[in-house]
Amino acid sequence: MPTPSKSHGRLNIEATRKPRALMQDQPDLAGAWKAKVLTLYPDMFPGILGQSLTGRALQEGLWGLEPIDIRMFARGKHRNVDDTPAGGGAGMVLRADVVGRAIDFADKGHARADWPVIYLSPRGKPLTQAMAQRFSEAKGITLLCGRFEGVDERVLEARNVEEVSLGDFVLTGGEIAAQALIDATVRLLPKVLGNAESTVDESHSSGLLEHPHYTRPAEWEGRTIPEVLTSGHHGKVAEWRQAQSEATTKARRPDLWEAYQKAKLKT
Ligand code: SAH
Repeated sequence: MPTPSKSHGRLNIEATRKPRALMQDQPDLAGAWKAKVLTLYPDMFPGILGQSLTGRALQEGLWGLEPIDIRMFARGKHRNVDDTPAGGGAGMVLRADVVGRAIDFADKGHARADWPVIYLSPRGKPLTQAMAQRFSEAKGITLLCGRFEGVDERVLEARNVEEVSLGDFVLTGGEIAAQALIDATVRLLPKVLGNAESTVDESHSSGLLEHPHYTRPAEWEGRTIPEVLTSGHHGKVAEWRQAQSEATTKARRPDLWEAYQKAKLKT
């Protein structure tokens, strides 16, 4: 098992804030999957990822996290990271030159083919389980968190950045979306979940939503548990769960249900 890096502060987090960090190579954490996060708010990390399963895995060195302060790449007297939008209008836009230098810094040491660079954006492709699976198969990822009105379009084009959205709503910044994407990805890495928590039959991995769950007490406020689940008959339980999965998907997500049936026809 890889050992957590001790020389870089708590857990596996190497907050890259000082310009002199530009001169240093980032340690490889013995090849563990890693997320580099370009943000104006590095202190927002690890945030929720420092707790529970993802936090324990971070501590064990199963994955690494490197928040990189975008401000480090600002130059000039005022070290501005943003400026007013061309064409007028409200708000500020993150500058292409500053973000470009930040991306180039994060890109060092690996090929894009096994290290995607993603901008969290409401204009991106909605995050899916299949995407999380693809990101978990890479050596690591770089996530760019926008703030204000967003990022100058030219740097997204020039650096071939993929855009991913957390959903059809607008957040104040990309950091919550980045943490959601990292969480969904890290739980797919080997050894992060115990055997007890399988990622095989859960919602979205098979194209269906998951069946409902029950636990003790056997009766609560007059409600009992479906009999088949206490029958001890594994075959019947599996059949019931499959039927529930299908019924729930059909009722709640006709879009997923249609895609599932199409995929089944092909196989
Ligand atoms: N003016 C932009 C919204 C900017 S919100 C627009 O209308 O498209 C500020 C930042 O929050 C964005 O740069 C992005 O990084 C992040 N953000 C907002 N909503 C998001 C979403 N649904 N998914 C991922 N990131 C989001």
